Amino acid sequence: MAPARVPTNAMPVNAMPVNAMPVNAMPVNAMPINAMTVDVEDYFQVQAFAGVIDRASWDAIPCRVEANMDRILQQFDQAGVAATFFTLGWVADRYPGMVRRIVAAGHELASHGYGHARADGQTPDEFREDVRRARGVLQDLGGVPVVGYRAPTFSIGPRNSWAFDVLAEEGHAYSSSVFPVRHDLYGAPDAPRFPHRPAGGPLLEIPMTTVRLGGRNLPCAGGGWFRLTPYPLFRALLRRFNRVDAAPGVFYFHPWEIDPGQPRVAAAPRLSRFRHGVNLSAMQGRLDRLLRDFAWDRMDRVFADALAAPAL
Ligand SMILES: [Zn+2]
Repeated sequence: MAPARVPTNAMPVNAMPVNAMPVNAMPVNAMPINAMTVDVEDYFQVQAFAGVIDRASWDAIPCRVEANMDRILQQFDQAGVAATFFTLGWVADRYPGMVRRIVAAGHELASHGYGHARADGQTPDEFREDVRRARGVLQDLGGVPVVGYRAPTFSIGPRNSWAFDVLAEEGHAYSSSVFPVRHDLYGAPDAPRFPHRPAGGPLLEIPMTTVRLGGRNLPCAGGGWFRLTPYPLFRALLRRFNRVDAAPGVFYFHPWEIDPGQPRVAAAPRLSRFRHGVNLSAMQGRLDRLLRDFAWDRMDRVFADALAAPAL
């Protein structure tokens, strides 16, 4: 269990009269614990490079994911943070020791599918085969039940909501696959912003965090936005979400984001290269601050009440 820690700039509650409390210093027990998550994949498997790196060539590319994961596990250990690792079956098959280290360190092992194919680019049968294979590999290697799933590139939305039923039928209890924003690669801007059971089905969807500002949903969940946004602004937005929406946030990043030494994919489009590579060298330091400034835990514990609530 990760210790619930005091955010560094929240003044001790009993150190001043209540009416002098600054607006952004909440009583400690009112600050939700947020969910820390990692999508475990290598740099060459991302959607941004799908057009220039053939899937058939993956086996010939030297992997960097295991070394990056060891640094992340060490960083979380030092911060006393437990997290959820949405792990690609393809990676798990090649690095079984890494899967066991995730579990041994007290983190939640969850699924990112097997081959990082977009959910909305597959038929229901192809999708079922992919998630079944991934969950089987992860459970065999980890020796623990795998109940969480995150779709590659947040590729579940109104057009393929059948995916929720498939996930439930294949043994998952929750998904964290919907990003209620507008984006060229993903997004379901009109989707609910908080945990819900799509179409009253058995699966709990826990959407990526957004802040409601000026009638729009702004992403506040990590990824490239986290590297692009000045850290104090990101921190203010997540604090605002925790305060205004009184809900836990969901943060995500990838092992390749802490790896400025990774090979550059010169053939990729300029925008893809920018999004992938921006501020990689600053990422680990930013993560350190994020781990200090908020309280974090694994998805299945942060959302335990919602998971336990019966479907309506
Ligand atoms: Zn991914």
